[in-house]
Amino acid sequence: MIVAIDGPAASGKGTLGKRLAAHYKLRHLDTGLIYRAVAKALIDAGRRPDEVGPAVEAAKALDPARFDEIVLKGYAVGEAASIVSAIPQVRAALLAFQRDFAAKAPGAVLDGRDIGTVICPQADVKIFVTATPEVRARRRAAEFKRQGQTIDEAAVLADILRRDERDTNRTAAPLKPAADAHLLDTTHLDIDAAVRAAIDIVEATRAGRGNG
Ligand code: C5P
Repeated sequence: MIVAIDGPAASGKGTLGKRLAAHYKLRHLDTGLIYRAVAKALIDAGRRPDEVGPAVEAAKALDPARFDEIVLKGYAVGEAASIVSAIPQVRAALLAFQRDFAAKAPGAVLDGRDIGTVICPQADVKIFVTATPEVRARRRAAEFKRQGQTIDEAAVLADILRRDERDTNRTAAPLKPAADAHLLDTTHLDIDAAVRAAIDIVEATRAGRGNG
């Protein structure tokens, strides 16, 4: 089974993806980490995230086995990732890795922005996760705090709105629900409730009574 989870920044799709994968004993790929790793490589090399040549080289040289999730989840890296991910050649260089990951037994949960639309259009289940920008900013600010980064919630909200705008309006694989995606609004749900709702969607789809 392949489960595609898409949604805007800090919508909870990463945690949801991890928990769904554990529940169904599938592999999990947080595809945001891939774009973040490319962005981090550029930052470390003293390059800007909109420099196409170095960005494509960094994408081709990517070693997912060496991802350091804590470093990649930082604030500045997320912003740079949203710029680097708008480069079509960067996305193209990362496509095969994601599809190969999804194709391996016993299947996988992938989360990102274009999993249901571009990476795995044949996914068995597609979920598009949303929450209001304010709720997402609160969650992300709390996450930064747990990591020891103090970032003002208003700044996080501004960053989220900027990234949503960039991710939604770019020409290369814009953020949008697939036509057959099930919408899951987590604004009023804690993570346990969101996981239960996602499992209900998977079960309903498997039972052939999905409403998506
Ligand atoms: O999900 P996360 O916040 O880690 O993603 C970082 C950035 O990477 C996003 O703002 C988005 O621009 C980009 N991204 C993407 N396609 C994906 C996953 C992430 O363009 N499948």
